[in-house]
Amino acid sequence: MDAQTCLKKLQYVGVLNFATVDKYGNAMITEKGYYISRSCIGCGKCMKNCPQKCIMSGKPFQIIQEHCLHCGNCYEKCPVGAVKRQGIVNETK
Ligand code: SF4
Ligand code: SF4
Repeated sequence: MDAQTCLKKLQYVGVLNFATVDKYGNAMITEKGYYISRSCIGCGKCMKNCPQKCIMSGKPFQIIQEHCLHCGNCYEKCPVGAVKRQGIVNETK
């Protein structure tokens, strides 16, 4: 598979978000979605509010990225700000 096809597939499954795929080489590539950091206290609110049921319990809880819609419910509901947006460094929330 060439690089262009690979990038298009990643965009299709929602792993990557491109300003433009056709201009590969000059494209802005940003990660989409959310992940759960180690500050998770295991309250389960994210899991209860996930429409996809794609959050697994654990220490910390974990998002099954392949099924995530990037709706942000988990991010909004977490009481301790343990859910982080991909690609955002030092997020204050
Ligand atoms: S962003 Fe939405 S779909 Fe993805 S894990 Fe969070 S609540 Fe679930
Ligand atoms: S809502 Fe936040 S603290 Fe609670 S289980 Fe989910 S990620 Fe962990």
